[in-house]
Amino acid sequence: MNGIAAERGEVLLSVVVPAYNEAGNVRLLHGRLREVLAAHGIAPWEMIFVDDGSRDATWEEIRGLAAEHPEVRGIRLSRNFGHQYALLAGMEAAAGRAVVTMDCDLQHPVELVPQMLAKWREGFLVVKTLREETPSELSWFKRTSSRAFYRLFSFLSGVDLQPGLADFRLLDRRALNELVRFREEGLFLRGLTEWIGFPACSLPYRPGKRVHGVSQYSLKKMIRLGWSGVSSFSIMPLRIGILIGLVGSLFSAGGILYSFFGRFFGKGIVPGWASTLMVLSLLFFLLFIYLGVLGEYIGRMVVEVRRRPRFIVSEAVNFPGSRPFPHD
Ligand code: UDP
Ligand code: MG
Repeated sequence: MNGIAAERGEVLLSVVVPAYNEAGNVRLLHGRLREVLAAHGIAPWEMIFVDDGSRDATWEEIRGLAAEHPEVRGIRLSRNFGHQYALLAGMEAAAGRAVVTMDCDLQHPVELVPQMLAKWREGFLVVKTLREETPSELSWFKRTSSRAFYRLFSFLSGVDLQPGLADFRLLDRRALNELVRFREEGLFLRGLTEWIGFPACSLPYRPGKRVHGVSQYSLKKMIRLGWSGVSSFSIMPLRIGILIGLVGSLFSAGGILYSFFGRFFGKGIVPGWASTLMVLSLLFFLLFIYLGVLGEYIGRMVVEVRRRPRFIVSEAVNFPGSRPFPHD
């Protein structure tokens, strides 16, 4: 159709790039990647941009680029579905035998892609990347919060996540086919990539500075991703509830004893006031926290049972044949 092997399986490498308000970066990233891949003789390849409901000219940029370059394809989601779903949309549409996912803001160095492919050729089905600490380039908050998150996640889920693990990775077709089968809500690809097993290795990289635009990960989005990672991987928070309940009931037992003896033997105690308040407030505090946690998991079940589509595509450009979504 466009000079590139059109059928699934004949493309060597697909590079999937989610883009949310990245108008300034689309051409830049494509240009650099093209140079690097050409220098290493990596072909045929395709680049799939997924516009995750951007509010700027990202889609126009993608369309323009796709008109000039046959290897560039674009998917436009009908609204902002979030980074993880944008990744998934691109992964489902990718035809390559190896698929690399990377950010649009040039923080993930394109120079690493040939090295990832080399590892893949050695036989690794998953090539992960680990962000090296660069104090000056990442904000203190970002570093600390991400480190804390990885620790907590590993502890709660029992899936070992290394700190600094990024959504910059290469997946062999076999690993990718497994990943896109997961139908769960609150997709957390970093965790699932560990979970599926398969021979994996990781390469370190130093993140560059975001070239254009601002980071799209607000504190709110980070907390949401973190929590959905934890709650989709473990029911540990529910078990912690039992622990808190036990400890809490010790406290209230103490309070009950105190008020009982105070009532009959104590002097100068306004009868019952402090202890009642203490026991009541403690129990209510615990109850409400745990109603919240239970609600969260029940909410997850409701969402899961509904089985809505996880993203909606409104437009696609430059896809040959029945792609991007032949299974739909
Ligand atoms: N992104 C997206 N949808 C969103 C938020 C971000 O597709 O709702 C994309 C964004 O365009 C970028 C990547 O996900 O390519 C990572 O986002 P960002 O650079 O804002 O995250 P950070 O590097 O700060 O973790
Ligand atoms: Mg970034």
